[in-house]
Amino acid sequence: MLTTVYIGIGSNMKDPMQQVSRALQTLAKLPNCTLVSQSSMYSSDAVGPGQQDSYINAVAEINTDYSAAELLEQLQTIEAAHGRVRKERWEPRPLDLDILLYGNQIISTSTLSVPHPELSRRHFVLYPLAEIAPELALPDGRSMSQLLKECSIGELLKVAE
Ligand code: ATP
Ligand code: CA
Ligand code: CA
Repeated sequence: MLTTVYIGIGSNMKDPMQQVSRALQTLAKLPNCTLVSQSSMYSSDAVGPGQQDSYINAVAEINTDYSAAELLEQLQTIEAAHGRVRKERWEPRPLDLDILLYGNQIISTSTLSVPHPELSRRHFVLYPLAEIAPELALPDGRSMSQLLKECSIGELLKVAE
């Protein structure tokens, strides 16, 4: 069965725009997946340890018949192929791929929390998500317009279509 999935893509190392566009190309070619749409790219200041370069973020919508766990594994393989090695949270990374939403499912396992727990608090996730799915609602019923109202756009900038 095909499920609509939203994936958050982020990079703040080694030519972030290039990393994000390569990741989108890779997602488009993934077996059992169709790339349905992709947002513009957005830049934002890094949060995390030390001085870090700005992030580039985008959101992709795919249809897939991978289970959420299988998809996570695929995404981690793509991250590794982009040279992601270290494992500490929030440190600089060439590529980060998060499952934001997996259909309307709520998943809570030791390796997977869906919807992504920070989704509603992160401008760099919400604004690109709303760009491609303005009519979306979270499994708890909250609409995009509600979520945007409660999350300031801050210093987030659209940098490329
Ligand atoms: P954050 O989750 O706050 O965005 P991060 O992306 O930097 O932080 P990572 O180091 O990339 O965190 O991932 C740590 C672990 O998070 C992964 O190994 C994975 O098992 C787990 N995880 C839980 N929920 C998700 C999800 N929805 N998408 C991707 N990984 C998830
Ligand atoms: Ca992340
Ligand atoms: Ca991640």
